Formats: sequence, structure tokens, C-alpha cells
Amino acid sequence: MKLIDGKQISASIKERLAAQVATFPEKYGRVPHLVVVRVGEDPASVVYVRNKARACEACGIRNTTLVLPEETPEAALLDRIKELNADNSVDGVLVQLPLPRHISEAKVIEAIDRSKDVDGFHPLNVAGLWQKTPHMSPCTPKGIMKLLEAAGVDPKGKRTVVIGRSNIVGLPVAKMLLDANATVTLCHTRTVDLPSITRQAEILVVAAGHAKMVTGDMVSPGCVVIDVGMDRDPETGKLCGDVDFDSVAPKAAAITPVPGGVGPMTIACLMENTVECFLKALPTP
Ligand code: NAD
Repeated sequence: MKLIDGKQISASIKERLAAQVATFPEKYGRVPHLVVVRVGEDPASVVYVRNKARACEACGIRNTTLVLPEETPEAALLDRIKELNADNSVDGVLVQLPLPRHISEAKVIEAIDRSKDVDGFHPLNVAGLWQKTPHMSPCTPKGIMKLLEAAGVDPKGKRTVVIGRSNIVGLPVAKMLLDANATVTLCHTRTVDLPSITRQAEILVVAAGHAKMVTGDMVSPGCVVIDVGMDRDPETGKLCGDVDFDSVAPKAAAITPVPGGVGPMTIACLMENTVECFLKALPTP
């Protein structure tokens, strides 16, 4: 069994970006600038936003974190986004999800200028993914594809099963795998007899949000397993994935750990997307 080390792969992506960004002040007069907006004090969001700021630091990307109070009205947040859209010194805008209930996530996602949408969530970027036209790729699915590539796994022709059909992970990663010529089965809560499907998988991507739901008996020997889950083990309270690592790893040809698999790749891809937004916005000579 090979452990797919997302921490190490993401570190090398960030190193490459840092070297690239170091050349920007001389070439372009400034470095990319990412603004991350957090509304409220959701503990997981506090950690994610801090990690994003740290990654920016590691890559030499300028970061501004805006913290707004929980009770910020939706209209005030939308106004703030408008200002950031109009600000030429800002290349990427990210609003950390989830948002407080009184704020529509759909409205916020739509309000971010698509050319600054480093998360790749804007409807026009989503449409670009599905229509194969230029777009910003969503970070987690992009990170999963990079993990497979780094592990030497070509999805072409492989029976690939994705569990979960969220807009953020399952659905876009299924599309990316399809575009990489995998044969994709997309599973969800209404799927009947999930184990009979997962046992056919040569590549299994799990993004269901249930701690350790995929167990060894659901996986065939030689399967490549990508665990997107970020859950709490109900027994120990520790961070764990959607895959029961102890029973699945011995059967897998390769597997991502949690933590240290998909998570760090998401942030590395966010850094890549920020640099991409910066480069695309440069005036054409
Ligand atoms: P979500 O709740 O939006 O979607 C979960 C999907 O899983 C749904 O489509 C649902 O139909 C499916 N599902 C749930 N239970 C199932 C079951 N028993 N059988 C079959 N399908 C089932 O979640 P999400 O935002 O896609 O996140 C999924 C997991 O990935 C969570 O643990 C989340 O924390 C994690 N996540 C990690 C990263 C990262 O960077 N590592 C990024 C995003 C999400």
C-alpha cells in the first residue's frame, strides 16, 4: 500500500509558487493579493482562514483577512464584495463558507467577480467546467486530480466511483474524472447497495461527510482510495476521514490519509488559483 502524501505534494506546489511569485515584483511591480472574508466565529472557519493566510505567507502572496461580525447584514457583505471587485490591488476574493443563516450563500458566490473567484464557485466558472470553456477550477476537486497524478494514477478507462454529489466536491470531481476519460459512477444517499458499487471501483473518491463510513469490506484489493472527508471520530473526537483507514488501507494500492491528504492540496490549489487570477488580470502589453 502506498500512502499518497498530500502534505508533501502540496509543499512542493507551494515552493514552486513561491519561486514564481518572487519574480513578480521586478516583472510586474507587485505580488498577487488574496482577500479572505470571514463572517462570524465558526471555529472550523477560524482555522481554515488562518491556514489560508499561512499558505499565502509561504508563497509570498499578500493576504488580507477581513473579519466581520456574525450579525453583518447580507447587504453590507454584498457591498463589501463590490468594493473588493472594483479594487485593482485585489486579485482574489474568497468568502469563507458556511455563512450565518441570514446570508444567502448563493447571492454571495454570485456577487464575487468571476475573474477574482479563486474558489471556482461562481456560476459562470461552474458552467465553464461543464462546458469545457475557460474557467477557474474549484480547489478541492483540482487538488484530488493532482494527488492522482502525483501518485502516478491515470484515470483513463478506470472504473471510478465517487461518493457524494455536492457542488463543492462530488459533482465537480466526477466531471473532472470524466474529462480525464474515467468511467464514473456517482453515488449519493439514494444509492441502493453502495458496497456492491464501491467494490467495483479501481479508483474510489469519498466525499460524504460521515466518519469512517467506507470500511474494508466495501473496497476491492488494488483500489486507489481518495478520502475527502474531514470529520470527527465519534469515539476519540479526533479528526478523521470518511474512510476507515485501518480496515481499508491494507487492501488499497494507494490511499490518502486524513489529515495530510486532500486538505493541504485544497489550500495549495487556492494559492495556484490566486496566482492564475493575478496573471490573467495583467494588462496585455
Ligand atoms: P455535503 O454534505 O454537501 O455532501 C455530502 C454528499 O454525500 C451528498 O451528496 C450526499 O448525498 C452524499 N452522502 C451522504 N451520506 C451518504 C451515504 N451514506 N451514502 C452515499 N452518499 C452519501 O458535503 P461536502 O461539502 O461535499 O463535504 C463532504 C466531506 O468532505 C465533508 O467531510 C467535508 O468536511 C469534506 N471536505 C473536505 C475538503 C478538504 O479540503 N479536504 C473540502 C470540502 C469538503
